Amino acid sequence: MFIDGHWVDSKKTFDVINPATGEVIGVVADGNHSDAAQAVEAAEKAFRSWSQTTAHSRSAILYRAWQLMLEKKSELASLMTREQGKPLKAATNEVQYAADFLLWFAEEAKRTYGETIPSARPDQRFIVQHQPVGVVAAVTPWNYPVSMLTRKLAPALAAGCTVVLKPAEATPLCAIEVFKLLEEAGVPAGVVNLVTASNPAPIGKVFCEHPAVRKLTFTGSTAVGKKLSQDAAAGLKRVSMELGGHAPFIVFEDADPVHAAKGASLVKFLNTGQACICPNRIFVHRKILPEFIETLTARIKKMRVGNGAEEGVAIGPLVDEKAIAKIEKQVIDARDSGANVLLGGERLTSEPYNSGYFFSPTVLTDVDETMLIYREETFGPVAPVIPFDDDDDIIAMANDTHYGLAAYVYTKDLSRAIRTVEQLNFGIIGVNDINPTSAAAPFGGMKESGLGREGAREGLLEYMESKLAGFSI
Ligand code: NAD
Repeated sequence: MFIDGHWVDSKKTFDVINPATGEVIGVVADGNHSDAAQAVEAAEKAFRSWSQTTAHSRSAILYRAWQLMLEKKSELASLMTREQGKPLKAATNEVQYAADFLLWFAEEAKRTYGETIPSARPDQRFIVQHQPVGVVAAVTPWNYPVSMLTRKLAPALAAGCTVVLKPAEATPLCAIEVFKLLEEAGVPAGVVNLVTASNPAPIGKVFCEHPAVRKLTFTGSTAVGKKLSQDAAAGLKRVSMELGGHAPFIVFEDADPVHAAKGASLVKFLNTGQACICPNRIFVHRKILPEFIETLTARIKKMRVGNGAEEGVAIGPLVDEKAIAKIEKQVIDARDSGANVLLGGERLTSEPYNSGYFFSPTVLTDVDETMLIYREETFGPVAPVIPFDDDDDIIAMANDTHYGLAAYVYTKDLSRAIRTVEQLNFGIIGVNDINPTSAAAPFGGMKESGLGREGAREGLLEYMESKLAGFSI
């Protein structure tokens, strides 16, 4: 753990496993309630000086961290592949994405402009300044174990906040490398603190209850996000929540079914389906369904499943047994309720898959709203295809979920695209595009997919308070 500028051990430790092989690849400190409290207190102490530094000096440190991350790109990527499982190329892309946040917020740090507001009184002047909120507690998931950290750390540091971060228990090694890099970049002692733990609940309790924590930023499941939001409400702490998704992928009658199917195969199997923006319901107009399915299955058959460290592997393992069990349950439920398993449908158990968590890439057709997969986030390599006939129905079908993170629309008709974007209740929409994300663009969900935005200009304001000064002159 990294607390108050020191790397510290704890009496207890826990193992980190390579999900492709089952091998133990590291042993890390198992932090507890009092480690978390100590880290919060270190951050509280450091806030006094860090919040007084200039935006230019904070920017310079972030800029240095960006350079270091690019220098260590291949090292970080290969660690990520071993710890989290994604193919090396995808891991390399993630490190680039993570570095993008360091650069973006190094630049934005200098642009936290306030404003002057005209008063109705001739003897009065209003000035609004943005100030850092204070100590930030951050909780991150395992699926993007480097970029989900910089998406929080970079804006918090740019704003002048100090941070205590708890990474996911499956991926603490990547987090440790990110913190080493911040230390090397010159972040002062106590400004960033890392608490690794196998049991997140006691750490979460400190984050929600400690009076010094002024903001909680969380990325993970909707269930845990709701619980932490409720607990943080007692102390009226600010919260940002990046939660689960159930993205619709809509292919209209006029779309090119081959282009759309290529897009669907890439974004559905991104990170083995373990991304919050992965499509979970692929709606295809019945007229172009055969061509779409033919291309989709042909593309998926070509994707090699295996250890992400091996050349040519496109789909890596899942994170753990629980993930496999959830997917199996959804596939069995869909099949028993009338879906057609066109491809895959089961766990891979033969050599070399038997020591890891592998599931064969799956395509389900004739999926309908009675099935679990139509409602529950899958977080795995299963593509459920649902035919539709009418434009009027499809918007209501797509919006029929309590999630609201990402959605995808394929059409060649500009008016239809604009109308659809306006009517969909999702925070991120790709139009003929499967990657509508960037450090410069706001990322976040509506409804039960979250509160607040990360990245972009908004991402920095999430860590700042507006302070009004009214002067009588
Ligand atoms: P999770 O909610 O189980 O865990 C996320 C983090 O919360 C982990 O660090 C975990 O240790 C921690 N946690 C769990 N219980 C806690 C508690 N009581 N107190 C404090 N911390 C606690 O989710 P997961 O399975 O790791 O991640 C997958 C989920 O994350 C999916 O639902 C996915 O959609 C979502 N996600 C969302 C985004 C986004 O930007 N919206 C990005 C990535 C992942």
